[in-house]
Amino acid sequence: DMEVAIKVVVVGNGAVGKSSMIQRYCKGVFTKDYKKTIGVDFLERQILVNDEDVRLMLWDTAGQEEFDAITKAYYRGAQACVLVFSTTDRDSFEAISSWWEKVEVEVGDIPTVLVQNKIDLLDETWTVIQDLCEEAEGLAKKLKLRFYRTSVKEDLNVNEVFKYLADKYLQR
Ligand code: GDP
Ligand code: MG
Repeated sequence: DMEVAIKVVVVGNGAVGKSSMIQRYCKGVFTKDYKKTIGVDFLERQILVNDEDVRLMLWDTAGQEEFDAITKAYYRGAQACVLVFSTTDRDSFEAISSWWEKVEVEVGDIPTVLVQNKIDLLDETWTVIQDLCEEAEGLAKKLKLRFYRTSVKEDLNVNEVFKYLADKYLQR
């Protein structure tokens, strides 16, 4: 069996939960005061998709997104992408289109998902974000992207995001 390895880039504004998502998926942990950098370029996890071994390499941005300084090296060779925004941060949603454009410019049309993270905080912030939920669905349709709502904290839907990307990649 040939092993398939997929480079997945996880992009979005700072503090939306990208590093936490990578940690959660690859190490099965969640920490509240997670360090800004993980010290390595990526973490990986191996899964089985339709009897095929797939190695997902999830690349973290190490906080560079705050300075708009994500380098070409980060995107280079990316084969799938997770666009993340947070339920509690409207700016992070507004920034999605520009993140998506950056990815397209660097690597073209690769399997991509739109993720609304921190869905566990929905109740607390309900009045602020009820519109955001509808708008997010609209944006996903417009960009023709699969849309997931996740809670990295409660481990809700995180596996599904990466399973979908691996599936989609293998179908190409
Ligand atoms: P990044 O800058 O996008 O890498 O975001 P981090 O992974 O550093 O997360 C920023 C903060 O959000 C941290 O305090 C995380 O613990 C927290 N966080 C991440 N995901 C969730 C989630 O699903 N729910 C809640 N309540 N907090 C989260
Ligand atoms: Mg981070």
